[in-house]
Amino acid sequence: MNKNTEKLKKNLKNQTVSIVNNPIHNTYPAPPFISQQQDAPGLVSKMIPRPDHGEQSYKGSNRLLGKKALITGGDSGIGRAVAIAYAREGADVAINYLPEEESDAQEVKELILAEGGQAITIPGDITSEAFCQNLVHNAAKQMCGLDILVNNAAHQQYSRSLAELTTESFDRTFKTNVYAMFWITKTALEYLKAGSCIINTSSVQANKPSAILLDYAQTKAAIIAFTKGLAKQLAEQNIRVNAVAPGPYWTPLQSSGGQPLEKLIIFGQQTPYGRPGQPAEIATIYVTLASKEASYTSGQIWGSDGGNGIF
Ligand code: NAD
Ligand code: MG
Repeated sequence: MNKNTEKLKKNLKNQTVSIVNNPIHNTYPAPPFISQQQDAPGLVSKMIPRPDHGEQSYKGSNRLLGKKALITGGDSGIGRAVAIAYAREGADVAINYLPEEESDAQEVKELILAEGGQAITIPGDITSEAFCQNLVHNAAKQMCGLDILVNNAAHQQYSRSLAELTTESFDRTFKTNVYAMFWITKTALEYLKAGSCIINTSSVQANKPSAILLDYAQTKAAIIAFTKGLAKQLAEQNIRVNAVAPGPYWTPLQSSGGQPLEKLIIFGQQTPYGRPGQPAEIATIYVTLASKEASYTSGQIWGSDGGNGIF
């Protein structure tokens, strides 16, 4: 057991997480949360409480039967919930993640395989253009095609002032959140055909930036502009482009540098629901946007923020 885990276990003994228990909020955990911090990119397996990705609850109904999807950041959090939902809707799924997240990725692989579809795991760093190109070619080759691209991976590191925000950190955030989306999407267009779609993950930060997330919020705004512009460009080819804009969701992104400890402990409290969302609560949006029934929906931003209604 490493030092970090020991610290978490000790904290767990001393603190409690309250569970919101009423018909509106279901029975999901609410703040205060246990103090916990991991190094980026963070692991689901180290989170307390463990997020719900729909492992026990998501029921598919063949809405994506035979489709082939590539999901970046598919090992954990929102991407994991989308991977599970897509597999249960009948899709083959390829996920990308960083090599240090292999244990999280293997859990997802097992869940996808349990649905009978293909589960492709492709670790690697999307801040490299060459890797992004290889990732798409590799996924499309192994699945014999590509119908759905979910650009979901992101880097989020808070910094309390502009003076503290280094060029290196700024660069990493933009490379991961914006450049990679550009490189991956460009390569994916070699495979996507009429009826295919692209779904990007933005954030409420695009519209309502936090003081401590200046670089991250900018990238999330850039994703919206990219989504809306590309939707127009690809309309002729009948390829739809949409984005999802989550509010606070309980994922490793937040406990591995995304939020300072004092904010993590009360994460989600400021929403009308009084708690963060669980990844299981957002996957259905990605399913709907990917399904053929949404054929007239493109260039849209779909928010899910616990009642604030930012989009
Ligand atoms: P997460 O940590 O589970 O997922 C982010 C993933 O990004 C990681 O699993 C990692 O695999 C991937 N990643 C980061 N850097 C990478 C790199 N260099 N190369 C390859 N992969 C890399 O967290 P999440 O919250 O599920 O994040 C998913 C998306 O949701 C992100 O776009 C995030 O900005 C967005 N989002 C999250 C919240 C929230 O509160 N959790 C709110 C708004 C938007
Ligand atoms: Mg992860």
